[in-house]
Amino acid sequence: MSQKGHAATLSWSDDPPLRIGHGYDVHRLEPCAPAGPGRPFVLGGVLLESATGPVSHSDGDALYHAVTDGLLGALSMPDIGQLFPDDDPRHESADSAVFLREAASRVASAGWQIANIDATVILERPKLSPRKEAMRENISRETGVPVARVNIKGKTHERVDAVGEGRAVEVHVAVLLVRMAAPGRQAEQHLA
Ligand code: MG
Repeated sequence: MSQKGHAATLSWSDDPPLRIGHGYDVHRLEPCAPAGPGRPFVLGGVLLESATGPVSHSDGDALYHAVTDGLLGALSMPDIGQLFPDDDPRHESADSAVFLREAASRVASAGWQIANIDATVILERPKLSPRKEAMRENISRETGVPVARVNIKGKTHERVDAVGEGRAVEVHVAVLLVRMAAPGRQAEQHLA
């Protein structure tokens, strides 16, 4: 292929067929009820064995929340807090899989497909590694992304600051979307 031809192939219009999204969440961890206000510690849809859990309006699944926000961010849509306000009694103790499924559904209806999801969970304890595969399978099931394209990395915060002292869990997520349909009215409405 000539240089000119190659350049022409890569010459996207002003609406490229890719979108990147970033999601972030943090939840404070407190002793679980009845000792304190912490909820059972659910992360990526998996119940962790822990004496502390998130303080939250919904079930406090920081991993599901961050993936949800990454998907919504890639679509330039309102974030999870705007779509599912934490002062709405309908979301009290909500299963965060509902938020994740809604975001994945909006991706599809806007004409996009999720290429991959890459998450970093920063948590001092308990250890993430024994439960990572179950979390990947849950995210895969809720989003429709094959499990091979859902990745979770676990890190500690080296005992430094709130996360390192076990007082919070933090999650970062990157997602990539690929356009499956030519941009039309529906996609434009979703991206507006
Ligand atoms: Mg959250």
